[in-house]
Amino acid sequence: MQELLDTLLSRYQPLYTQGKVADYIPALASVAPQQAGIAVATLDGQLFTAGDAHQRFSLQSVSKIFALVMAMNRLGDSLWQRVNMEPSGQPFNSIVQLEWEKGIPRNPVINAGAILVSDVLVSHYSASKAAFLSFIRRLAATETIMADAVVFQSELEHGNRNAALAYLMKSFGNIEADVPAVLAQYFHQCAIAISCSELSRALLFLANRGVQPGLPDAVCSRRDAHRVNAILSTSGMYDQSGEFAFNVGLPAKSGVGGAIVAIVPQYGVITAWSPPLNRYGNSVVAMQLISHLAEELGLSLF
Ligand code: GLU
Repeated sequence: MQELLDTLLSRYQPLYTQGKVADYIPALASVAPQQAGIAVATLDGQLFTAGDAHQRFSLQSVSKIFALVMAMNRLGDSLWQRVNMEPSGQPFNSIVQLEWEKGIPRNPVINAGAILVSDVLVSHYSASKAAFLSFIRRLAATETIMADAVVFQSELEHGNRNAALAYLMKSFGNIEADVPAVLAQYFHQCAIAISCSELSRALLFLANRGVQPGLPDAVCSRRDAHRVNAILSTSGMYDQSGEFAFNVGLPAKSGVGGAIVAIVPQYGVITAWSPPLNRYGNSVVAMQLISHLAEELGLSLF
């Protein structure tokens, strides 16, 4: 495995020049583009890494997984009256579909859905930002994970489209809390800084029917772990989700910070990271690393 990761990294890292680092906020635009890392955590406790696997980056949309699990734990099935579970076929921050569908987001991993999930956290957890942070720290077994204050501030300043989504849902009665509090919750989770190795470990419960190795209680039910993986399989990779299922065949989520996580049920979690993104918003190098690793190891679920 170690040899394979090293080979893949040296083969695909040079492709970073084909992508473009997210530049909607200055804090992300200034990240060094040549960085690349990969970490594979397995259910039997092994961790294999290559490249910049211990370098922290901006979690961004990958945070939507953790928030969703917290919201499912609090609301149970009633969550699914407020958000759907269908692929959107629209850009992740689209407003048009939300208007058409009366403020019910297509799924919890597009921005509208994630903002709705943030509302659940604000409305149903006291000190919801701290609750999110302690959830992710407990899963990663790392107390030093923090939100990056500069990224957080920058997201707030440039968050007009997300604010529009939130106010539109509020106008349909699908947001309970005050919109500024909901947006602060969402931007806080996006601004978390984490590494490939920490992220792979933190998501092992999704490969293990809801049970995190080393923690006494289940993180979520077996059924909810199945549901999260199903949503990631159909909607986790922006408008490249179908192609990713077609070529790779694993539940996965990417974020504009350049990370992609892929869940391998009954085996473990792969996280790859490299900042430059393709035209869909998925990391060019991380995509290559995960696709080729999955192919070499025969990991596709289908
Ligand atoms: N903070 C970004 C936004 O909400 C996250 C985007 C992403 O990673 O998909 O616009």
